[in-house]
Amino acid sequence: MSRSAHPAGPRHADVLTEGHYSAPPADLNALDPKVWARTVSRDEDGVLTVGGRTVTGLAEEFGTPAYILDEADFRARARAWRTAFGTDADVFYAGKAFLSRAVVRWLDEEGLNLDVCSGGELATALSAGMDPARIAFHGNNKSTDEIRRAVEAGVGRIVLDSFQEIVRVAHIAQELGKRQKAQIRITVGVEAHTHEFIATAHEDQKFGIPLAGGQAAEAVRRALTLDGLELIGIHSHIGSQIFDMSGFEVAAHRVVGLLKDIRDEHGVELPEIDLGGGLGIAYTSSDDPREPHEIAKALTEIVTRECEAARLRVPRISVEPGRAIVGPTAFTLYEVGTVKPLESLRTYVSVDGGMSDNIRTALYDAEYSVALVSRTSDAEPMLTRVVGKHCESGDIVVKDAFLPADLAPGDLIAVPATGAYCRSMASNYNHVLRPPVVAVGDGEARVIVRRETEEDLLRLDVG
Ligand SMILES: *Cc1c(COP(=O)(O)O)cnc(C)c1O
Repeated sequence: MSRSAHPAGPRHADVLTEGHYSAPPADLNALDPKVWARTVSRDEDGVLTVGGRTVTGLAEEFGTPAYILDEADFRARARAWRTAFGTDADVFYAGKAFLSRAVVRWLDEEGLNLDVCSGGELATALSAGMDPARIAFHGNNKSTDEIRRAVEAGVGRIVLDSFQEIVRVAHIAQELGKRQKAQIRITVGVEAHTHEFIATAHEDQKFGIPLAGGQAAEAVRRALTLDGLELIGIHSHIGSQIFDMSGFEVAAHRVVGLLKDIRDEHGVELPEIDLGGGLGIAYTSSDDPREPHEIAKALTEIVTRECEAARLRVPRISVEPGRAIVGPTAFTLYEVGTVKPLESLRTYVSVDGGMSDNIRTALYDAEYSVALVSRTSDAEPMLTRVVGKHCESGDIVVKDAFLPADLAPGDLIAVPATGAYCRSMASNYNHVLRPPVVAVGDGEARVIVRRETEEDLLRLDVG
């Protein structure tokens, strides 16, 4: 079932020879609802509004750059996942995509569970009052201190990632007089990327215990003998920004195969499976993500079919969307600083942020869209590259974009779909201050993560 032999690596082809950006869009002022948060539109002056607030007003009040997050959209997406999977399944929001205490409360209110993968994420979740029983603790190298805190707090599950960790967690739980619920993360040899997946990928990665060679079966064997552990299931996460469900199909087939082997060997039917996250979102108009109800239906059918074939009780399914919930709900608002036309090449548009607030373009060669949002324009489209203010030529926010030719310093532009893995991967490179996250809704705006200050920087620098 392998679709592609080559992994999705960086593409360096120039825009002029490349697919969907080779021609400018028909209307530069249009806002494709696929890539923008749900309450986004333009007011009668052409200014972009979100949650009942104009971006010009938001820029004045909170400054730029800023991540602007549509709270109603976040809640709607979280709820859609919850509803789609119903009461026989669990939805764990992957906190690494973007985590703050406000987000934890929204998730709590919408009935979602939470994945954390560090002591810091755990502390954030607990300080916002998340029920520890609804927290899953992930990671390939949890420290003994992190494990102890997680077990003490009473997290609902720890996802075990190595033979050493199986023993470590069991030991710590026993020391604390507890029996920790746990899943074992396995690698099923499926690797999924955006539009293709590889069913025969070898398991050369740091996460999980390979199914191949009987290693996962051996991990289960060991976990089942340890008093400090209650093994509740098997975990598999196959990739990110996935649109094609067939990777999950192969993964589910292999996970269920392991459940069957466990039943045959130990007489135990593990009650749960976790199929991970990785569902794709639209960064540009050419991406076509699936709706949560389609994903839920597909995954449930796949697991049910596989279990029937293996004569197993259908386990409780959990999924872990991060990007698919928070990604589309936010955009980054920037002010244009300089506009530099390079004759017969393109125009470089510099903004007041860059790779410190969005590393995904530099790191993954990610594609984004961009729009002029403080006004509309009837000017001709011009081919641009939106770049940041950092001392690094790879400091690109949007590699290839058309913006109106009358773009000028002081204009506001916005990059949609930056809710996931932008603030959470933000850095202080060049001692640039990390932008705030401003939640908007019903005409109100409030800072949920404040802008960093030079005082913050100097506080860490103890001289
Ligand atoms: C990163 C990750 C996720 C979330 O991935 P998204 O692409 O944001 O949906 C879920 N589960 C695990 C184990 C992960 O590592």
